[in-house]
Amino acid sequence: MTLQRALEISYSNSVELDTEKITIDEAHGRILSEDIKSHVNDPIFDNSAMDGWAVRIEDCKIGSKLKIIGTSQAGKFNPPPVRKGEACKIMTGAPIPKGANSILIIENSKEENGLVTILENPKPNYIRKLGENITIGQTILKSGTLLSPFEISLAATSGNWQVNVVKKPIVSIISTGDELVHPSKKLKDGEIFESNSFGISALIRKMGGNPVHFGHISDSMEELRKTLNSASEKSDLIITSGGVSMGEWDLVRKIMHEEGKIKFWKIKLRPGGPPLFGTWKNTPIFGLPGNPVSSHVVFISLVAPWLNKIMGSDENNGYKLGNRVKIRLKDPVKGAPGKICMRRIYVELEDDELVGHVRTHQGSGNINSLVTHNALTLLPPDTEGLAGQLIDAIWLC
Ligand code: AMP
Ligand code: MG
Repeated sequence: MTLQRALEISYSNSVELDTEKITIDEAHGRILSEDIKSHVNDPIFDNSAMDGWAVRIEDCKIGSKLKIIGTSQAGKFNPPPVRKGEACKIMTGAPIPKGANSILIIENSKEENGLVTILENPKPNYIRKLGENITIGQTILKSGTLLSPFEISLAATSGNWQVNVVKKPIVSIISTGDELVHPSKKLKDGEIFESNSFGISALIRKMGGNPVHFGHISDSMEELRKTLNSASEKSDLIITSGGVSMGEWDLVRKIMHEEGKIKFWKIKLRPGGPPLFGTWKNTPIFGLPGNPVSSHVVFISLVAPWLNKIMGSDENNGYKLGNRVKIRLKDPVKGAPGKICMRRIYVELEDDELVGHVRTHQGSGNINSLVTHNALTLLPPDTEGLAGQLIDAIWLC
C-alpha cells in the first residue's frame, strides 16, 4: 500500500474532538474551532505613523514656516484642527487633526518661537488610514488555524479575548518488548533501554496532543489485551511501538488480527515498512514499528497528518514537523525498490543553495541518525539519490 492510500484510509477513521473556550493568553499552540471576526477597524481612526507635525501638504514648501497650534497625543482624541499655514505637533499613533493631510517628520523640521520651519517636503503616506489593515466584521482567522504568536496578537488587535479551540487529543502510548527497560533502571544481559515512548510522547506534544504513557509491557497477549482495553477507554488514539513485523513475538499484529480490526498493515516506505492501522474497540490505533528511526519516521509520515486532520487543520495551516524543500544532494543516498525512501540528511545553505549531506550511518535502529541530521529525503520508489542531483526532502523542525 502506498503512503497516500494509507493516509486516505486513516483519514476515513477519524474521531470527533470537543471544543473549549479559552483566553488568547492560553491559546499558543491551539487550533481554532471557529472563524474569528474583527470587532474593530484597524486602524480604528486615522493616525500618524511618525513623530512630527500634522500639516496641509499645500502649505508646505522647503523653507516656509507654519504656526504651531497644539499637540496630538496617542490616547487623546479631538486634537485642534489644522487650518491654512498651521501645524499641529503629533506623536506616533495619535489621531490626525481635522484639515491635516500629511505628516512632516520631526527630523525634517526645526521648531522655534511657536513656528516650525520645513526642511524637507512632507509625505502623505505617513498617515495610517482607518481600516486600511482590517475592516470591522472581516474574518481574520479561519477555523483550523494553529494559533501562534502572530495570530494571537491579531486576535487581541481585533478585540477578541476568548476563542473556541479544539480540545487536545488524548493519545496513549504503549511500548512492547521483553527486552525493554526504563532508562532510569540498570540493564541486565539482553536488555536495552526503552526509548520510543519518550520520543513519541514528545512528538505528540509537538503536534498539540496530550500524551498518556502506558510505559512498556512484555510480549504477552494477556498484558497487551489488558493495556489496549484500558487505553481505549481513555484516549482518542492509541499508538503502540514494536511487535508489528513478521516475527513470532510480534504480538501487536497478532492481537489486532485476531481481536481488533486492521485497516492496513505495511506501507511502501523505508524505513518503517510494517506499520499497522486499525481500531481497538472503536478507538483508532497506529501500530508503529519498534526500530527507533522507523517509529519516528512513521509518526512524521502517518500519525502527524492524521492528528492535524482530526483537529480540523491541514499541513498548511496546522502543526508541522517539517517543511518540504528542494535540496541538492552532496553525497549519494540509497533508494529502495518499490518504496519511498526517507534517508536522513543534513540540510544547510551553501552558496545560495540548500544542500544535503550524509553525516552518519543510516540504520533504522540508529536514533542518533535523527540527531546528527535534520531532514528526510523523499526519494520516489525505485530511484537512487545521486550526488549533485536535486531532490525533494522534508526539512524537520
Ligand atoms: P520489533 O518491532 O518489536 O521487532 O522491534 C524492532 C527493533 O526495535 C528491536 O531491535 C527492538 O529491540 C527495538 N525496539 C522495539 N521497541 C523499542 C523501544 N520502545 N525503544 C527502543 N527500541 C525498541
Ligand atoms: Mg518486539
